[in-house]
Amino acid sequence: MTALPERTDRKLGLVIDLDTCVGCHACVIACKGWNTENYGAPLADADPYGASPEGAFLNRVHSYEVRPAGGDAAQIFHFPKSCLHCEDAPCVTVCPTGASYKRGEDGIVLVNEDACIGCGLCAWACPYGAREMDPAEKVMKKCTLCVDRIYNEHLPQEDRVPACVRTCPAGARHFGDLGDPDSAVSRLVVERGGIDLMPEQGTRPVNKYLPPRPRDEIDVLAPFLDPVDEAPGGFLGWLDRTLERMG
Ligand code: SF4
Ligand code: SF4
Ligand code: SF4
Repeated sequence: MTALPERTDRKLGLVIDLDTCVGCHACVIACKGWNTENYGAPLADADPYGASPEGAFLNRVHSYEVRPAGGDAAQIFHFPKSCLHCEDAPCVTVCPTGASYKRGEDGIVLVNEDACIGCGLCAWACPYGAREMDPAEKVMKKCTLCVDRIYNEHLPQEDRVPACVRTCPAGARHFGDLGDPDSAVSRLVVERGGIDLMPEQGTRPVNKYLPPRPRDEIDVLAPFLDPVDEAPGGFLGWLDRTLERMG
C-alpha cells in the first residue's frame, strides 16, 4: 500500500470540452510524440509494422454514436481519455512498492519507473483504463500532465502546458489549477456545468468534462441547402446527367 497526501497545494488538471472536440486525434499524436521524442523514457511500440502492432498511448480518443431517448437524430461524440489525476487515486494506494505516487505540491499522479515491478495492480485498480504497460520496457506508464513541459524554463511561456492542450486545433482542451476557484478552468467548469467521470467510483477525479450542448431544434442551414436549380444546365447539368446514368 502506498499513501496519498492528505491534501495538495494545487490541483493541476485538464478540462475537456466534449462539445467542441472533433475527434481529430491530434492530442493523441502530440502526446505520443512528446513522450517518445523528448524528455523521459520513450513510449514504446512493439511490432509496429507487423501483424500484431501494439504500443503504449497515454491519451486515447473514443468515438460514439448516441441516439437521444426522444428519438431525435443520432449524434457523434468524441471522448478523449487520459489519467484524471484523481484525489482518491486507487492506483496509488494499491501499489506495493511506492512506485505510484501523488505529488503534494500540484496533485499530479506519477510513476517512478525505477521502483515499478510491472505487477499491473494499478492498471487493474484504475476504473478508467488510464494506465498502460509499456510493451518494451515492461513498466507502467501514464499521463504525467507533461510535468517536463509545464515547469520547463527552457520552453517559451506559451509552450509550458501539456502537449495535448498546446496542439488541440479545436480549443477543446484546457489546463490549469482546479483547486483555485478563480482560475480560468474552474470558472469554465462552473459556467458550463462540468462533470466528474464516473463519480460513483469515489475517486474524485481532478480532470473535468464539459458536456455537449443540446443540438439546435431548428436546422439553421436547411434553407440554404435547398436545391437552387431543379434542372441545372451547362457543365453541371451534363455532369449531373452523366452521374445519374452511371448510377
Ligand atoms: S485516472 Fe486512473 S491512473 Fe489516473 S489517478 Fe485516477 S485511478 Fe489513477
Ligand atoms: S505496475 Fe508498477 S506502478 Fe503499478 S502497482 Fe505494480 S509496481 Fe506499482
Ligand atoms: S486534439 Fe482536441 S479536437 Fe482533436 S481529438 Fe484531441 S481534444 Fe478532440
